[in-house]
Amino acid sequence: MHESELLARVPEGLLINGEWRPAEGGRTLDVHDPATGQLVKQIADASVADGKAAMDAAAAAFPAWAATPARERAELLRHTFDLLKDRAEDFALLMTIEMGKPLAEARGEVTYGAEFVRWFSEEAAHVQGRYGANPEGTGRMIVSQHPVGPCYLITPWNFPLAMATRKIAPALAAGCTVVIKPAELTPLTTMFFAQLLVEAGLPAGVVNVVTTSTAGPVSEAIIGDPRLRKLSFTGSTPVGQRLLAQAAPGVLRTSMELGGNAPFIVFDDADLDKAVAGAMAAKFRNVGQACTAANRFIVHRSLVEEFTERVTAQVKGMKIGRGTESGVSIGPLIDDRAVAKARQLVDDAVERGAELRAGGQALEGPGTFYEPTVVSDVPEGSDILREEIFGPVLAIVPFDDEDDAVRIANDTEYGLVSYVYTENLARGQRMIERLETGMMGLNIGVVSNAAAPFGGWKFSGLGREGGAEGIHEYLQTKYTLTPNPFG
Ligand code: ADP
Repeated sequence: MHESELLARVPEGLLINGEWRPAEGGRTLDVHDPATGQLVKQIADASVADGKAAMDAAAAAFPAWAATPARERAELLRHTFDLLKDRAEDFALLMTIEMGKPLAEARGEVTYGAEFVRWFSEEAAHVQGRYGANPEGTGRMIVSQHPVGPCYLITPWNFPLAMATRKIAPALAAGCTVVIKPAELTPLTTMFFAQLLVEAGLPAGVVNVVTTSTAGPVSEAIIGDPRLRKLSFTGSTPVGQRLLAQAAPGVLRTSMELGGNAPFIVFDDADLDKAVAGAMAAKFRNVGQACTAANRFIVHRSLVEEFTERVTAQVKGMKIGRGTESGVSIGPLIDDRAVAKARQLVDDAVERGAELRAGGQALEGPGTFYEPTVVSDVPEGSDILREEIFGPVLAIVPFDDEDDAVRIANDTEYGLVSYVYTENLARGQRMIERLETGMMGLNIGVVSNAAAPFGGWKFSGLGREGGAEGIHEYLQTKYTLTPNPFG
């Protein structure tokens, strides 16, 4: 399909109480293509009053949606999943246009994002309670699950579809209503997905979408509303910390998927072919713009030169360009700030003595491109080992023994995911117990799966998305005691 035809089908307004409407005062914000810098579409730019209207709609719709039979909620999600699969190519192209990821990866994200809708359509009808005697035998204990209430969902720009479905689907499955605020850089995919939910029969007010260039004030007003019961956020740790503080007065349930600084450890007993393939996937998926992206390659000294040469050869063969062009595996970074950050981290490492093996340059515009880059022998203390790179830069540090590798890997406030390559089972098991991360890839470079509990330890967050755990983020437990009916 022609791009302009697709873009014309994406709504421009705010979805509030089942209607697409303009923002207060007709304010708009511009969405750009990061590969060309060109304007893609102008959409509604919500004010604080618009945010409050969305909150009103979510609160008003909650009682009826919570009382809707789980099977009906499940079928709405299943219908949405089927529609999403039918429109997979449209969603993939839209993500490539607004976010920049190569089309093949955008197709992968449609599959991944749709899986959350299918998974939670299945989970909706499987929420269970328990019934049993108390140990004294004097009473009966009933444990039941209830939707938490209206939720506010804030999503980032790097996975425009999957981050939205990973929150919306479990919320709806549990019987919650939502206001969702997508990232202002990539709002179109969420609007397109919301339109699909409406087409599938979503009642008015159950999902409300506010797109805004003033995320701070609009969010603060919604988070401060006493009817809100839950906040789910995916984004950077500093913003997550600020939102947690805002959520405290309302004692809101919170889910926080924050930053990462993933170690990727290659032991001397690793299968190097697998490790190189895993490294390329763990680093360059989404042009490195993923909180699960491997940030630090910690490689045993006996293999480090061969590992470095092999990844460098692959990196030098990567094609850079707009994600719609065939063969491209490195699209643009999201904006100028992202390019400046990659440049600053690489320059700092090189100034401290790291060796630049490939790349290292930002490209001339239009578009915000940074070359895929390899730096080896990165000295401890370099910024690139402490900060989340969020770009196509592979930084390598040698190590000598297992304790050394574990110490380097855990030397960060983050704890989202780790990757370990070893053919030694006992060593792999030791790593499961020693690495301080919420997820781990053991001889594999990508761990995301709708059926798994995604989430981090330490500064990487609170709560889990996906898996059996995912729906419980949107449910609250009630325990009831009744006397022994036999007296
Ligand atoms: P990133 O660095 O990946 O852009 P952010 O944490 O800045 O991550 O953004 C993630 C999401 O948080 C986006 O939807 C953004 O609009 C939103 N956001 C940013 N600042 C605030 C804020 N002060 N209050 C609420 N949401 C915010």
